[in-house]
Amino acid sequence: MQISQDVALKLLSGRSDAEIARTVHARTANVAAARNIFENIAELLREGHSDTYVARTVRVRPTTVATARSILKIPNLHGPRKIEDPVAGFYERTRPVDGGHLKWLGGDVDGYPVFYVQRRRIRARVLAFRLRNGRDPVGDVRPGCEFDGCVAPDHIEDRPMRETYRQIFGGLL
Ligand SMILES: [Zn+2]
Repeated sequence: MQISQDVALKLLSGRSDAEIARTVHARTANVAAARNIFENIAELLREGHSDTYVARTVRVRPTTVATARSILKIPNLHGPRKIEDPVAGFYERTRPVDGGHLKWLGGDVDGYPVFYVQRRRIRARVLAFRLRNGRDPVGDVRPGCEFDGCVAPDHIEDRPMRETYRQIFGGLL
């Protein structure tokens, strides 16, 4: 099971499972299950366990645990080398904006939002797209919403998606 940072933040926002389910287009039962898992992760992290231990115990991916740790601001005291998680790094450089948009606070190269993890350049829109769609984008990847420079995973589109929308909505858009 994977709990995205987006859902984790919503779980902590005080909104009900049903409300969250509506905004992320999921079933309430799934949100309730995610909340249960997230609470288990939080409890083990507060007890001071490592990401690997928590991931194994709760049966989630280590990246999910790392994401929870970063949201809950629980320092990781394990391991001599701390490797920044790109997903956590992405969200640390954003701020939610009304309407479900995500404002990019990080740097850019030629107008494209980027950041660096272990000296590797990560393109924020590409990462956002992968988070939402589970695949690499094809062609130009950019927000399809009206918020300039938005990096919300739900709002980032690639060329095939735009073509599909055009076919569905035709001249309406
Ligand atoms: Zn947006």
